[in-house]
Amino acid sequence: MPIIIAIDGHSSCGKSTLAKGLAKALHYAYLDTGAMYRAVTLYFLNQQIDYNDPAAVEKALQHIEIHFERIEGQNHTFLNGVDVERDIREMIVSEHVSPVSTLSAVRRAMVAQQKAMGRRRGIVADGRDIGTVVFPDAELKIFLTADVDVRTSRRHLELAAKGIDAEWDDIRRNLLDRDRIDSSRADSPLRQADGAVVIDNTLLSEEQQLAKALELAKAQA
Ligand code: C5P
Repeated sequence: MPIIIAIDGHSSCGKSTLAKGLAKALHYAYLDTGAMYRAVTLYFLNQQIDYNDPAAVEKALQHIEIHFERIEGQNHTFLNGVDVERDIREMIVSEHVSPVSTLSAVRRAMVAQQKAMGRRRGIVADGRDIGTVVFPDAELKIFLTADVDVRTSRRHLELAAKGIDAEWDDIRRNLLDRDRIDSSRADSPLRQADGAVVIDNTLLSEEQQLAKALELAKAQA
């Protein structure tokens, strides 16, 4: 029986690496919910929408269509038909995405789509409110965490591999800012879901982390 696996945790602690690894091993779909909030943020920035204006946000949301496509084995995020996979990872988006993600109108729209995508089960989703709000009935919930300097270094490498130039200190500050905003917002704050298994991957390799999670998944399936 296919299950739902919900992965939550702080910024850049390897959620997407783990989620992709699990999806591949189990032949499940992968849902990158952070990419959806990033795509909304990119739209607001490109269209110069004042996201502190609730009416403007409500109106803009009606013009946003987000979907995912697999291209050469990689997950690509599309915003209104355009591949924005690279643009949504830029620092300018990282700097605005957490304030945008505090907006209830934005969350309502994204969560509705995410729930619809999980209807067939057999899905691994990662984000900040997956085990608490999007899929509270997920059979396996994982809360990932790691040391902030290790997270910064991983993010730095990941961005460099994508050809995105960013300073180590700026990345570190951005991670801590996002963690603070994501954990303290009123609507769906980041927190460990009831029943979630905590994995601290500071000292784990990708393979070790995946093996641990696969063991947990197989015990549930
Ligand atoms: O996962 P990623 O780091 O790409 O997410 C970017 C931002 O999107 C997070 O810092 C958070 O503000 C927001 N987010 C959220 N809820 C989710 C996924 C991401 O609020 N389920």
